[in-house]
Amino acid sequence: MAQTCNTPLPPRIWSRFNKLYSVAMQHEVSVYDVTDARYSVVSRDEANDHGGNEYTVEYIRKWCSCGKWQMLRFPCSHAIAVCSWRGEEPHEVTNSKFHTTTYREQYNGHFYTLGPKEEWEEPQWRIQGDPSRVTTHRGRVRARRIQNEMDVNYHDEPQCYLFL
Ligand SMILES: [Zn+2]
Repeated sequence: MAQTCNTPLPPRIWSRFNKLYSVAMQHEVSVYDVTDARYSVVSRDEANDHGGNEYTVEYIRKWCSCGKWQMLRFPCSHAIAVCSWRGEEPHEVTNSKFHTTTYREQYNGHFYTLGPKEEWEEPQWRIQGDPSRVTTHRGRVRARRIQNEMDVNYHDEPQCYLFL
């Protein structure tokens, strides 16, 4: 699968890139500073009724004032707009960990099935925790706030946990 991947970025990342690219095509790019490769990108996407939000893209530093490029190491639509304006490839704006070559290398090894569990050998080692990182609390943990009706625990009712 990874070996037959011919897109510049692996499939999921490539589709994410293309979604942002279509947003980027709605942006207006203007050059602020040629030497530092600093650009102004004005967004005109429909999601924002007012439109016209202006962002600064520092292309060489891989930085955008929206904060996403430097945080995710994956370009925001503003960075992609500048990349396209400069006529450069998606590789230029995407961290190498997202590249197809990295993706291929990750799956380049040999993989074997594990076989039936009964035939597994007993390991000659044990996983050990680091005791210095374990915190122990003696006795009851004291509540720091006043209890209210939401804290009442009905033991006969099934407990429900919500994972977000
Ligand atoms: Zn941005």
